[in-house]
Amino acid sequence: MKAGVYQGPGKLEVLEVERPEAGPGEALLEVLYCGVCGTDVKTFVRGHHMFPPPCVLGHEVVGRIVELRGAGPGVKVREGDVVAVAPYVPCYSCEMCRRGRHELCNAKGWIEGGFAEYLTIPATVLERGTFAVPDGMDPKAACLCEPMACCINAVTDTPVRMGDTSLVLGAGVMGLLMLEACKAAGAARVLVSEPDDARRAEAERRGALVVDPTAVSLNEWVAQVAGEAGPDQVFVCVGTAEAAMQGISLVGKGGSVNVFGGLPGGSILDVDARRIHYDEVVLTGSFGFTPEHFRTALGLMASGRLDVADLITHVFSLDDATRAFETASSGQARKVLIAVGAHA
Ligand SMILES: [Zn+2]
Ligand SMILES: [Zn+2]
Repeated sequence: MKAGVYQGPGKLEVLEVERPEAGPGEALLEVLYCGVCGTDVKTFVRGHHMFPPPCVLGHEVVGRIVELRGAGPGVKVREGDVVAVAPYVPCYSCEMCRRGRHELCNAKGWIEGGFAEYLTIPATVLERGTFAVPDGMDPKAACLCEPMACCINAVTDTPVRMGDTSLVLGAGVMGLLMLEACKAAGAARVLVSEPDDARRAEAERRGALVVDPTAVSLNEWVAQVAGEAGPDQVFVCVGTAEAAMQGISLVGKGGSVNVFGGLPGGSILDVDARRIHYDEVVLTGSFGFTPEHFRTALGLMASGRLDVADLITHVFSLDDATRAFETASSGQARKVLIAVGAHA
C-alpha cells in the first residue's frame, strides 16, 4: 500500500510499504481522508520527540471498515461502515480515569498513521472510540471531529452558559472552532480578537464581534463591548504566555480563563494575584478530549448544529502529501485534508 512516510523535518516521501493486518479483535480501516493537524505540522517543520522518523503521521482519520476480526460485544460498527476514529481512548482503570479525568488517562490506547491507504484499529479504540459517520454527512467533515472534540472538552471544563459573553483570543482554525463551540453551548455573544484580516473576517462571518488588537486597545474595546461585567469566559487560542496573561486581565469578575493553546515548555505566566483572590477569577486549561467529547462533536456536526465543514479549505491527494504539509504550515490555509488512495 502507499503511505506518506515522514523522514525528518521538511521531508515526506510517498512510499510503497507493507499493508498492515488486523489481529484478533482489531479492524482494518481503508482510509478515506485524514486531516493535517497542528501537531503534524509542528513535527514536519521541526521534529517532535513523540514521532521519531521514519513514521507515518496522521490521526484525524475517517475511513471505511473493510475487515473486523472477531470484534467484541462493545463494538458498535460493522464491516462496510464509514467511521470517524477518535485517535486515542482512555483505559478507564488508571488513577486518572478513576478520578473521572479521562482525557488525562495515563494509559491511552491510540492510533497514528492516517496518511496511508490502510491502518489497523486496535480493540480498545475500536470499542470505545470508533463511530459510524451518519448517512448524509460528508466524510470529509468528519475529519473535524478530533479538533472539535478538543473545543467541546474546553467548553465543558470552562462551562459556557446560555446568555454568556465569551471572548476568544485568536481566530486560527482552533479559535474559529472554539467560536462555534461557544455558540453551540449557548453564548449570547462571542467576542473575537485577531490581528489577521482574513481570519478576523471569517470570525465575523460566523457571528462574532471582532476586533484587531493591533489597531485599538483590546482592554478598552472589551470594556466597551462586554460592559461592566466583562466576559464570562476567555478562551486563549494562541500559544503564547502573553496572550494567556492578557486573558487574565480581560476576563470579568468571577469569570474563567481557559489556556487552550499549547505553550512552549518553560513558559511562565505573571498573574496579578488580586484578580485570583478579590475577583475570584479561575484559571484553567484544556488539552485533548475523551470519546464522549468526540461523539458529541460528531453528533453536533451531523445535525448541522455545528456548521464547520467549510473550514476545510484544501484537499490534496496522498501523492501530494508534501504540498499538503507545506500548505498547512504556510498559515494561509484553514484546514487541510489529504484524500487517500483512489478517493482523491
Ligand atoms: Zn489533531
Ligand atoms: Zn486511564
